[in-house]
Amino acid sequence: MIECAHLIDGEWIAEGERFESFASYDGSPVGRAPIADPAMVDRAVQAARRALVESDWTTRRAADRGAVLLELANRLEAVIPEISELSTREMGKPIRLMRDREMKGAVDKFRYFAGAGRLLDGTVTGASPANVLDMTVTQPIGVCALIIPWNDPVDLAVRKIGAAMAAGCTMVVKTSEETPASTEALFRLLDDLPGLPNGVVNMIHGPGDPTGEALIAHPGIDKISFTGSTPTGKRIAEVAARRLTRVSLECGGKAPCLVFDDCYKEKCMDALAYGAFIYGGQSCTAATRIIVEDRFYDEFVAGLISRAEKMPAGDPLDEGTLLAPLVSDRQAARVQAFLDTVERDGGRFLLGGTLDGRYCPPTIVADLAPDAEVACTEVFGPVVTVFRARDEEHALEIANSTRYGLGGSVWTSDITRALRLSKRLEFGDIWINTHYIRQSETPFGGWKESGIGRELGLAGLREYLSNKRIAIDTADDFHLRTWFENPPKA
Ligand code: NAD
Repeated sequence: MIECAHLIDGEWIAEGERFESFASYDGSPVGRAPIADPAMVDRAVQAARRALVESDWTTRRAADRGAVLLELANRLEAVIPEISELSTREMGKPIRLMRDREMKGAVDKFRYFAGAGRLLDGTVTGASPANVLDMTVTQPIGVCALIIPWNDPVDLAVRKIGAAMAAGCTMVVKTSEETPASTEALFRLLDDLPGLPNGVVNMIHGPGDPTGEALIAHPGIDKISFTGSTPTGKRIAEVAARRLTRVSLECGGKAPCLVFDDCYKEKCMDALAYGAFIYGGQSCTAATRIIVEDRFYDEFVAGLISRAEKMPAGDPLDEGTLLAPLVSDRQAARVQAFLDTVERDGGRFLLGGTLDGRYCPPTIVADLAPDAEVACTEVFGPVVTVFRARDEEHALEIANSTRYGLGGSVWTSDITRALRLSKRLEFGDIWINTHYIRQSETPFGGWKESGIGRELGLAGLREYLSNKRIAIDTADDFHLRTWFENPPKA
């Protein structure tokens, strides 16, 4: 059992009531963490504000902040095997995905932001009169509250702290109550990190209430960046609205996949089986609404079923495992409640449909209307709804008939059709003939109820900056006095 602690002002603090996290596979305890109450939250925010005002973190060269990030990347890279094993136990993501996708991806993101901070620039308008220099510059937005979920417990923290650090902000990170030990392992790498003043990066544990609520309502917070479910995102937006605190929200999704008869069929069926089921569909861009052109529907469904049936299930620490139990009993109960609505709503299970403890088998549902609960609400489990589409227009209509707008994919060998659909799909992230390509350089984020703002890329970095316009007049006279005395001729 790992004894967790908060990191505040460079000190590890383990005071107060505690909660435990459990291994997804066998339910054994993994971490025991303290709950940050409002007083502890205040302590963390005060530490971040002191570091903002009193340290040289915000004012130093981006290259110097970048050097800190590069060292952090090296430290993370050196412990990939250990952190992967811990996170796989706690969260349940198969070890190969955890190690080769999440952890290596996280290292790359730190390195990206280390360099990206040096690309920040401002503008000077060329439209001014000769005596005026009118410029727009950026500065760090201030103290950030960074709230993360459990499904990528390291990578989702890195996206936020990498960008916030590169921009020169200070921060308080709140871990998820399901994965405190995995996320804390990342912050342990900050101990004695050369060049990082105490208080720049603080980390606290605790549930949404009281910890998250105290953090988002704290008057010392200038910006909230949240990743998690849409209902929580809405709650955060409501609280933030009271003080007009800036927010970025990375919320839930219900990714449509538009599959046409002219696609590369084997690749499409492989990709969507992976896209739907790996790590139990616990991804915000999991391929959960598959819309197949009528002519290909039967072959596609048979191909998806046969692939899903062959996916190895078991202990996520085994190198061969692709399917493992859901993160927690709470998540399993949530998924089961969704499955209980399928037959009530006229749906039919083509595969799966019943959980065994925390393990949910790959589940494929047909015959649901696009607005049935399971068809249009994020389940966050390995549950796919398949639809028949008469033609391209019908496929598009089903795809867009959701309140989410995060990611989706289009499967066709007709590039004109792919681009035509990409323009009309109401989603922030569109893949053509693939699913799940993510790069540090390109922004990621949702439309509609999937969120506000972007992560990654330069757009993700700019979320942590405030614009400031500065105008300088080199003329001897004040322009309005001159204007009144010599009004411009009509
Ligand atoms: P969640 O909304 O339950 O919790 C997310 C985080 O918010 C946790 O740290 C939680 O403690 C905190 N929280 C809960 N209530 C809060 C409150 N009132 N005030 C402040 N903080 C509060 O989500 P989850 O179950 O942890 O994660 C799964 C969700 O995350 C899914 O909906 C998934 O789609 C979403 N997600 C989105 C992205 C993205 O980039 N868009 C990425 C990963 C996961």
